[in-house]
Amino acid sequence: MPKLMPSHVDVLITGGGPVGATLALALKDSGLKVMVLEANSDFSRPADPRALALSQGAKILLQRLGVWGAIEAPSPIETIHISQRGGFGRALLQASECGLPALGHVVNYSALSTALHQALAANSAYYLTGATVHAVHNTPGFGVAEFSHAGQQHEVTASLLVLADGGRSLGAVRGVERHVVDYGQTAVICHVTSEFPHRNTAYERFTPYGPMALLPSGAGFDLVWTALPEEAETLLQLDDKAFLEKLHERFGDRLGAFTSAGRRASFPLSLKYARPVTAQRMALIGNAAQAMHPVAGQGFNLGLRDAWELGEAIMRVPRAEIGNAAMLAGYREGRSPDTGGSILFTDVLVRLFSNDYHGINLGRGLGLAALDLLPAAKRFVARKMIFGAKG
Ligand SMILES: Cc1cc2nc3c(=O)[nH]c(=O)nc-3n(C[C@H](O)[C@H](O)[C@H](O)COP(=O)(O)OP(=O)(O)OC[C@H]3O[C@@H](n4cnc5c(N)ncnc54)[C@H](O)[C@@H]3O)c2cc1C
Repeated sequence: MPKLMPSHVDVLITGGGPVGATLALALKDSGLKVMVLEANSDFSRPADPRALALSQGAKILLQRLGVWGAIEAPSPIETIHISQRGGFGRALLQASECGLPALGHVVNYSALSTALHQALAANSAYYLTGATVHAVHNTPGFGVAEFSHAGQQHEVTASLLVLADGGRSLGAVRGVERHVVDYGQTAVICHVTSEFPHRNTAYERFTPYGPMALLPSGAGFDLVWTALPEEAETLLQLDDKAFLEKLHERFGDRLGAFTSAGRRASFPLSLKYARPVTAQRMALIGNAAQAMHPVAGQGFNLGLRDAWELGEAIMRVPRAEIGNAAMLAGYREGRSPDTGGSILFTDVLVRLFSNDYHGINLGRGLGLAALDLLPAAKRFVARKMIFGAKG
């Protein structure tokens, strides 16, 4: 922790999760005074079992920040197999067809957080863990955060206040509207093993009850099973044997029987987004700006690009212009096609693939079959998934 708590900094980041930490690291050689306030103080335990599918683009950014090599056991995805239950049509996206060694990698959320935390602790003079922000507000000249740390209350001002708290903890922000679309779905996540090996293939299977993803991870898979909330509750209660049988029944025979299941956890799913993503002396990034359904594995990949591009926007202007209206408008307008496109793509995918109407079923099958037959379309989809709308 800093020897003297600063009263004013250039950039204050509330939330040192994957996205906030990325922004702080992107600014580490800028010469600016950058402060990070992170509520968590214990990075020694793998507290969050969530798996993240990171695109090849995300890997490149994390390599530039010097963090990639410190992430424990990333598993490559060389093929993505997309299919629908109870209908024809399937598509295969292959890294080799796109001239890439991998389409992406699967990492554990906690392993990523720990690697970023260690890099921040080594590089940032003003990185405070165990610091919980209670309130934020803005004035024409600066953003303000009130927080508690080690039993003391503090207030710090900043030319630019960045909200990277994941969108859950800080209430209303003047000038920003929050929108919520509840999908009425819950994700049940769990590590499972199967009779047949994964051969670095990720499976995306659409079912009438919601999409299901099996991401290659170590010797097994990280499962994201989307279900109606009541069914999710039942899935959490089943013993391992019954859970694995149900998974086999829902996923089909492609991987043989499922042989073991780790700890199960659940996440309610909705689309939450803030508009605009900037306010006087403030910017919202990552899940604080948009939290999406995990169906397309876009959330962190998009948040990472928010952090990277905000870092670039900050470093492009003289120090006195950081956080002013022109700088923030440039950032906001530059991000809009990528964030808008990713939100729309994910939302359409959830709605299109979460029902069982015969006509739609047929259309989906034709769409998947067409995608499989058109190399140019496959490369287009792969590039968008890897590098975002600008890909
Ligand atoms: C089941 C599931 C699967 C997913 N799969 C994928 C995937 O495959 N690929 C992908 O790209 N994305 C995926 N996502 C989305 C991804 O997890 C998020 O987009 C990503 O975690 C966002 O990072 P963030 O730093 O913005 O927010 P968070 O991860 O929520 O981090 C916020 C940080 O802020 C801190 N904080 C919160 N409040 C305060 C406060 N008041 N004061 C100080 N600190 C605070 C928290 O402790 C935390 O460290 C998935 C999400 C779910 C739920």
